[in-house]
Amino acid sequence: MSEQQNKKTVSKAVVISRDQHNVSRRNISDAALRVLRGLNAAGYDSYLVGGGVRDLLLGQQPKDFDIATDATPEQIKKVFRNSRIIGRRFKIVHVRFGREIFEVTTFRGPHNNLNVVGDKGQQNIKGLESAQSNKGLILRDNVYGKIDEDAERRDFTVNSLYYTLENFVILDFTGGIQDIQEKTIRIIGDPTERYTEDPVRMLRALRFSAKLNFKIERRTLEPINRLAYLLASISTARLFDESIKLLATGHARKSFESLKQYKIGQYLFEPTLSAMETDFTKNEQSSRLLDLALHNTDLRLEEGKSVTPGFLFAALLWPVFQMYMEINKKLKLTKKQLFQSSIDIAIERQLSYTAVPKRFTIAIKEIWRLQSQLERASPRNICMIFSNKRFRAAYDFLLLREQSGEKLKSITTWWTQFQISDELTQAQMIDNKKSSYDKKKTVKKIKKLQVQ
Ligand code: ATP
Ligand code: MG
Repeated sequence: MSEQQNKKTVSKAVVISRDQHNVSRRNISDAALRVLRGLNAAGYDSYLVGGGVRDLLLGQQPKDFDIATDATPEQIKKVFRNSRIIGRRFKIVHVRFGREIFEVTTFRGPHNNLNVVGDKGQQNIKGLESAQSNKGLILRDNVYGKIDEDAERRDFTVNSLYYTLENFVILDFTGGIQDIQEKTIRIIGDPTERYTEDPVRMLRALRFSAKLNFKIERRTLEPINRLAYLLASISTARLFDESIKLLATGHARKSFESLKQYKIGQYLFEPTLSAMETDFTKNEQSSRLLDLALHNTDLRLEEGKSVTPGFLFAALLWPVFQMYMEINKKLKLTKKQLFQSSIDIAIERQLSYTAVPKRFTIAIKEIWRLQSQLERASPRNICMIFSNKRFRAAYDFLLLREQSGEKLKSITTWWTQFQISDELTQAQMIDNKKSSYDKKKTVKKIKKLQVQ
């Protein structure tokens, strides 16, 4: 774009000068600055946008820095050696600097020559840069435009602020600065249209409201309940990504509550929500377990610890698993078959909502399988259980069950003690278990004899 043209477009924005805002280069990662400068040096415009600007304005450290530019994906790729074009619906470039990855997006523009395809037409959009389903869902969003058009294509005003290294100003095309000050999530454009184009924006509205402690403006909130069903047309892979952003970024408890409140949660976690309403799962206990798991997840992240989706989903699906353990009892299965079939159905049901990757479903199964082993703590198996790489997660899960009110006798305390003991004491503890285990066995035998 010529310099003059550029000035004309930018002039549509409210310009917040360097001394009127608190975004400082000091809080932007060096690598992000290098991406911005790299694009400028190659003759392109570049801006920090999205969560990077929003969170800095709020005095918070951004999770990542997103960058917008007038360079096309192919041009961006030429500027940075360590980069690759990803995405089909929405093409972006990942630029890698050391351990950091930046999402660099080309300014989007309006879809003028819409290619409208039917429900079954999704296979025929190969090669198209713009495509929309006949229900209004955007299937390809790779029409490029100018910065002001890009601003209009973003989801919420607070996510549509552009920071540039040129004079260090922020450009505001949609009133985002005022909404930041008023702590408001406001969708850009017509809410129904924007949610229909991309229903995930509804989840994003709830997520940002939970994360930032912002209210959702009335117009933005109103259609959510009504349009929640549109989420059924989103791929399970994308919904898994969103579920992780909702639950594993420090505001899981609040997000889950608002998902339930706005009746949108069933498009992500239907198996859990419906299981929690049955009598099979001791209702109160299972919702307490889930609430505790979400709360602990938030606390762990606050302390800078990691959380794993496997553990989270093990907690989410526990009531579902418990429900099938009850239902399948009628099927005259062996203990092992009952256990295995209940695990399989619980996970299978979740997979039709969110595509939980295999490495996490393996973790879920292992955490559940270890529960009964931890409970039994048979002396022969103790060392094997303890050396299992998922022991810690399974033990944490056992604690969670106890804290949520399940009666687990004193087994949790036993395992807590076992972990902090030296090897000699551990050996002693196993020996003690052995003798009480043998005693129990003998008592059982005698009882059996007496019956005969
Ligand atoms: P965070 O990274 O903290 O979760 P973010 O706002 O940076 O929040 P990203 O998913 O990283 O969110 O997206 C970066 C920016 O891209 C957003 O701020 C928004 O401007 C735009 N964006 C992302 N997803 C959408 C969408 N579905 N519709 C419209 N704009 C979007
Ligand atoms: Mg971001």
